[in-house]
Parts: sequence; C-alpha cells; structure tokens
Amino acid sequence: MSTSSKRILITGGAGFLGSHLSERLLNQGHDVLCVDNFYTSTRRNIIHLLEHPNFELMRHDVTFPLYVEVDQIFNMACPASPIHYQRDPVQTTKTSVHGAINMLGLAKRTDARILQASTSEVYGDPEVHPQTEDYWGNVNPIGIRSCYDEGKRCAETLFFDYRRQHNTKIKVARIFNTYGPRMLPNDGRVVSNFIMQALQGHDITIYGDGNQSRSFCYVDDLVNGLIRLMNSKEELTGPVNLGNPGEFTIRELAEKVITMTGSKSSLIFEPLPQDDPTQRKPDITQAKAELDWQPAITLEEGLKPTIDYFRTHVS
Ligand code: NAD
Ligand code: UDP
Repeated sequence: MSTSSKRILITGGAGFLGSHLSERLLNQGHDVLCVDNFYTSTRRNIIHLLEHPNFELMRHDVTFPLYVEVDQIFNMACPASPIHYQRDPVQTTKTSVHGAINMLGLAKRTDARILQASTSEVYGDPEVHPQTEDYWGNVNPIGIRSCYDEGKRCAETLFFDYRRQHNTKIKVARIFNTYGPRMLPNDGRVVSNFIMQALQGHDITIYGDGNQSRSFCYVDDLVNGLIRLMNSKEELTGPVNLGNPGEFTIRELAEKVITMTGSKSSLIFEPLPQDDPTQRKPDITQAKAELDWQPAITLEEGLKPTIDYFRTHVS
C-alpha cells in the first residue's frame, strides 16, 4: 500500500462511514476533502476534524458537477437506511446515478482513482447464499427499495462503462450491513434501532418473524477493507464484497442487544416491509485473496463500543 500523502475526496464524508474513513485517512497523513449536503448527517460527526489542518469541508450536492483537483475519490454519498432512502426516492436515485456520473467525470478529468460504495442490496432478495460477486441478483425494479437498489446497480454499470470507454481507474466495493458509533440514533437501521430501544426500555421492534438474517460488519473492519481496495493493483476493479460473514437472525441480534445492555425490553413483532431480503451473507473469498482482508471484530466485540456510544452520546 502506498504511504505517500494524497488529496482524497470523500463524498458523503460527514455520514456514518464517511466520517470514520475521513478520520482514518487523516491519521495516515492524507489531505481529506469532505463533500456532503447533510441529507442524513450533521456536522457533529466531523466536528472533531474541522480544526485539522489537512481537513476541508464543502457543502455540496453530488447531483451537481464538482470541479476540484484530487488523487482519489471515495464516492460514499447516498442515504443508506431504508427509511431515509425511501423518504425522497427520486432524489435517492438521482444521488446514485447523477452523483456517479459527476464523480466519474471528475475522476476522468483528474485521472484520479475512484471507489464506489456499492451495496449487498444489488443482490436483492438473493437466491444464492452466501452471495458471491458473480451472482447477478434478484431485484424488484418497481418496489419501495428499488430507488436504492437500482440506483446502486446503475451506478455500478456507469463505473464499468467509464472503465471500458475511458479507462477510468475504478474500484467497486459491495458493502454488507455495517454498524458502529456515529450511526444516527433515529437512522432506522436495525442495530441503532435495537440499541436505542433497549437503552430506553422500549419494546424491541422485530419486523416479520425475526428469522431473516443479516451479517454485521464493524465499521473499523470495513474502513480497512475500503482503503485496501482503493490502494490495490489497478487491474482489480471489483466488484468486491466487503462484509463480515458471521450471519445472525434478526431475533438473535435482538436477544444479544438485550443481554449486552442489561435491558428489560420485550420483543414485539411488526409487519415485514415489502421486499425485505430474507437472508444475506457475503462470500469474501475474493477480498481475502486479493486484498488479504477479512474482518477481525466479532459482533459482540463491535456491539460493545456501539452501545457505549449510544449510551453516552444520546440522552
Ligand atoms: P449515511 O446516511 O450515514 O451517509 C451518507 C452521507 O451521504 C450522509 O452524510 C449524507 O448527508 C450524504 N449525502 C446523501 N445524499 C447526498 C448528496 N446528494 N450529495 C452529497 N452528500 C449526500 O450512510 P452510511 O452508512 O455512512 O453509508 C455510506 C455509503 O455506503 C452509502 O453510499 C451507502 O449506500 C453505502 N453502504 C453503506 C452500508 C452500511 O451498512 N452502512 C451498506 C452498504 C452500502
Ligand atoms: N429490522 C427490524 N426491526 C427494526 C429495524 C429493522 O426487524 O427496528 C429488520 C429489517 O426488516 C431487516 C433487518 O432488520 O430485515 C435489517 O434492516 P436494516 O434496515 O438495518 O438493513 P437492510 O434491510 O437494508 O439490510
């Protein structure tokens, strides 16, 4: 991995993942330009970075062109939680598609490397388990999750067309469910919901019967994987799955959170949202072989600092 200092643009840099990535890259000695329109975040996530001499914040919506000079681009901008990406679905698709076009145009002009934060959602409700990168997915094109899933799929298409047409230096990471400190307490994703509910003594809302599965990756592991992929040999375009193969049912997650918080909350069952995938687990053979990467942090180890964060940062 190259250690020379680079000018690195992170779109969505004030978000959950973007803020951790910003911090890590600053610690490695790089200049970080954080671009965000604060659609699903606030300056609070990056407040501790604002005085850093190598950190710059720009309020900007990636659906509009951006002219800056950079060496690398992490394209992270996009609401990631179902309740947020379904709030304004047209804007979600625009962010993925127009955002990808604008950032790929920037990468083409500056000859920068560009990494796309794609998602396990491109596999939809998968019929192949665990999911390998060569699986094309099972996605509803007209459902309530489609603005996100199809937006991300189209962004992947754009990345590979820029590669074929313009030889742009692309990397595509398919990120599986990631959690950790700085998720928004009202984000709606399962880990933050369950921890908040448990800490406040509210009922834990399980959608469906709770037998659907997810594989949860701690944010520090994921950030390692993203940086390794960005700095990998140029021919490695991906898509590469990045996630923790440890698979849990949603009910198991709820029980773990209750035990670890010492909560007296009860489980309640609510209807399963439309097109909610029944199972999800990454096959990370490629990441292991090509990036020498695999997660090191178990769910229990990662939940501890996440619970501590919510305990101390949320009243
Ligand atoms: P997040 O919502 O915390 O962060 C997204 C950031 O993008 C926010 O700061 C938001 O304000 C910003 N943003 C949204 N639209 C924008 C626009 N048009 N212009 C500029 N900024 C904009 O979500 P996250 O969990 O940090 O996810 C980051 C990226 O990783 C997303 O692209 C998401 O799809 C992808 N991803 C995340 C996960 C996960 O589990 N966290 C899984 C798969 C993929
Ligand atoms: N989920 C749940 N209760 C909640 C929030 C989510 O049971 O309060 C379920 C949701 O239906 C899904 C899983 O947890 O099956 C993961 O949901 P999340 O929104 O975190 O991510 P995604 O569905 O995008 O993987």
